[in-house]
Amino acid sequence: MTDTFKDKGFATKAVRVGHRRTAESEQSEPIFPTSSFVFDSAEQAAARFSGDEPGNIYSRFTNPTVRTFEERLAALEGGESAVATSSGMSAILSTMMGLLESGDHIVSSMSIFGTTRVLFDKYLSKFGINTDYVKLSDLDDWKRAITPETKMLFLETPSNPLNEIADLEALSALAKEHDCLLVVDNCFCTPALQKPLDFGVDIVVHSATKYIDGQGRCIGGAVVGDAEKVGEEIYGFLRTAGPTMSPFNAWTFLKGLETLDLRMKAHSSSALDLAQWLEQQPAVSRVFYAGLPTHPQHELAKKQQSAFGGIIAFEIKGGQQDAWKMINALEWISITANLGDSKTTITHPATTTHGRLSPEAKALAGITDGMLRISVGLESVDDIKTDLTLGFSQL
Ligand SMILES: *Cc1c(COP(=O)(O)O)cnc(C)c1O
Repeated sequence: MTDTFKDKGFATKAVRVGHRRTAESEQSEPIFPTSSFVFDSAEQAAARFSGDEPGNIYSRFTNPTVRTFEERLAALEGGESAVATSSGMSAILSTMMGLLESGDHIVSSMSIFGTTRVLFDKYLSKFGINTDYVKLSDLDDWKRAITPETKMLFLETPSNPLNEIADLEALSALAKEHDCLLVVDNCFCTPALQKPLDFGVDIVVHSATKYIDGQGRCIGGAVVGDAEKVGEEIYGFLRTAGPTMSPFNAWTFLKGLETLDLRMKAHSSSALDLAQWLEQQPAVSRVFYAGLPTHPQHELAKKQQSAFGGIIAFEIKGGQQDAWKMINALEWISITANLGDSKTTITHPATTTHGRLSPEAKALAGITDGMLRISVGLESVDDIKTDLTLGFSQL
């Protein structure tokens, strides 16, 4: 089935790959809520367990609905293997546990999801895996941080919330030169807008919770890459430790993938429109969106991405007081730190997603007190502007 769609377009793969129709002739992918699977004989059970015969055993590591999601996402990212996980965080944890050992060193962008940073600093460090942080777009900073123990470079591009862009080709060359793996969290773009593996990246991780679901329903994650590192080593950790995606969530994410291409185009076109509009607002001092020609890495973003995504950060001149006033005046835009939803959301990073950072770390990450982040949803963009205008009128 998967081979049928090997040379088909992205949108076709997103709808079709991975479904093996059962004897019931269903059109939509079935959900298999079963913890274990039945064998025809003792011989077959033994062959399944020994790995001599492929097939389902137990849903901690083999479930047909989850496998359909994995095959479809792997096809969309252009990877040999994908492993689905219970959350984006467990995708990152499984990557580290599967591929690193005590004494290994990670160089990471400082502009990463806050919880990822806590995972590195508080938990991986307990097992002798230490992390140093660098500026995402500064190649020399990456070079300086690499030591003989460095086994992995880790980043998100575009970054949250400032939409800073990493040069994936340059970083992948650097990783190869130092024999380390380059891991990219592709949550903001999804494969609909950016395929890191095409630029030499080794492993892509996802929080499927965001755009892959796209409607704010389920928590999940995934790791995509080659058959050995992902298909065996990371899969081996998942099989043993069990941060497994549930069949129901896998089904929800499959449905999400079917509309991913359309949604990412719509999020991106509304966000570009809104970013241009925000630039004209007198109360706004700066807009951070890689689709704007004023963005310092606009050309690099154009090379790596087919569009610029749905996340915009902008700075209100009046600092935190006016930023909060603005949020509180909105009629219906949701005040929540989640992103990638069909519903537009707004958050004040300095006191929410980045609230645990020290003032120095905030300054380094470029998070100012007047900054707001919008995840542009699928509502009519004119209505989003009208709601924001209510906010601006209070300042
Ligand atoms: C949300 C998020 C994560 C964590 O994913 P969960 O599904 O919440 O565990 C990781 N990386 C990025 C960029 C995210 O936005």
